[in-house]
Amino acid sequence: MTTQSDSNLPALLKSALDHMIIPIVSQSEIATNGLSIYARGEGCRLWTEDNREYLDMLGSPTRANTLGYGNQEIAKAVYDQLVNVHFVGTAANTTEPAIRLAEKLSEILPGDLSRIFFVSTGSEAVEGALKLAKQYHQAKGKKPRAYKVISRWNAYHGATMGCLSVTDWLPVRNIPDPRVPGNSFIPSPTRYRNPFGVTDEVWAEMCATYLEKQIELEGPENIAAFIGEPIMQAHGVQIPTQNYWRRVREICTKHDILLICDEVITGFGRTGTWFASEQFGIVPDIITMAKAMSAGYVPAGAVATRPEIADAIPMYRNVHTYSGHAGAMAASLKVIEIKEREGLLSKARNNGVYLQEALRSALGSSPIVGEVRGIGHWHAIDFTSDKATKAPFEDETVKAVMNSMHEKGVLVTAIGHSIEMSPPLIASREELDKAVEVAAAAIDEVSKARGFG
Ligand code: PMP
Repeated sequence: MTTQSDSNLPALLKSALDHMIIPIVSQSEIATNGLSIYARGEGCRLWTEDNREYLDMLGSPTRANTLGYGNQEIAKAVYDQLVNVHFVGTAANTTEPAIRLAEKLSEILPGDLSRIFFVSTGSEAVEGALKLAKQYHQAKGKKPRAYKVISRWNAYHGATMGCLSVTDWLPVRNIPDPRVPGNSFIPSPTRYRNPFGVTDEVWAEMCATYLEKQIELEGPENIAAFIGEPIMQAHGVQIPTQNYWRRVREICTKHDILLICDEVITGFGRTGTWFASEQFGIVPDIITMAKAMSAGYVPAGAVATRPEIADAIPMYRNVHTYSGHAGAMAASLKVIEIKEREGLLSKARNNGVYLQEALRSALGSSPIVGEVRGIGHWHAIDFTSDKATKAPFEDETVKAVMNSMHEKGVLVTAIGHSIEMSPPLIASREELDKAVEVAAAAIDEVSKARGFG
């Protein structure tokens, strides 16, 4: 079928390339593969301008979309708010939806995290958390010069300079220095393939011990915070052992270092609970959130902390024009309401078990699949060229699997040595089955084409 948009496509593509800076994809890659220009979406389905249909098993390429496309209820909640009072500014000016959302977040956050600062993006949330930690120590007076932050290998915490300075993810890390000084990185407890080939438990223990050593090296009196994603995205859904976060929590408490859990991806049900830190039995001092907070309908993010920390600071020195934007607050309230009403968190937990079993049974015998791991609606298929040594592919094999899945109509992404799947929480079992079937076909095709049989 030829549509109006079909005939527009070449001009649209040219205009995009003439006028947009496309990030994180090389210009040569864009010249070869072009851009995906999406025209509409419904549920987990997306259609491009030239009417190609995709099953979105990523929750949009940012993982934010937990409730699918075209949700009228969220759109209406935002519309109703915008035509009433869309935005009043920040500081001592707010609106009822912001207060209601702060109240609601306090109810669903772990422990006594009940003081909220609203922002619009994950990067702003992380910046806000770093500022909060530094201002807390300064105000409390016990270690007023604490400015250093410890982060981890492979971490991604956002794109602004403060965030980048605690980020180690290769594609964005190599910007011209100097970055914000005082930050250092320790190993992260990656599973399946750790540098010493020890068990996951031993490696996690070593990583926690590294934290203690790094604190000694940097001087606890200089360190404001330790930051980490409870489940790391880089290298594909890295779920640490149960003990890891408990040890980290103990070490941070012992040295009066604030523990920041960056839940920008893991928050709001992606892993089957409101926040992933719950699953490790810890209460961080600060949690950052964004993405699924508004299911991607409008930009929304937040920093949450404990009353003791918020109350210690006479005036929080941080401000963003769109802090607590009423439309974003209305969207986030509606998103939480829908997730509660539809029981989407427990559905995600059950679907997670189902999807993992289905992936393992369909892919377990593939000569190039090393491990399938994941939780809730977040899974990774980790590839290896040698199951005995777990050697990763250093070539384009993983990308070839991703491209083949795209050609077969299923959107996933290649991250490190893995394919990552993060379906919206509304995905049906049939849609998950379809994704597994396409993954199996694509992996089989790529593995045969590359001589693995
Ligand atoms: N922290 C984490 C863990 C993230 O995954 C991201 C985004 N991928 C960010 C922070 C930054 O969020 P944003 O892109 O909304 O600024």
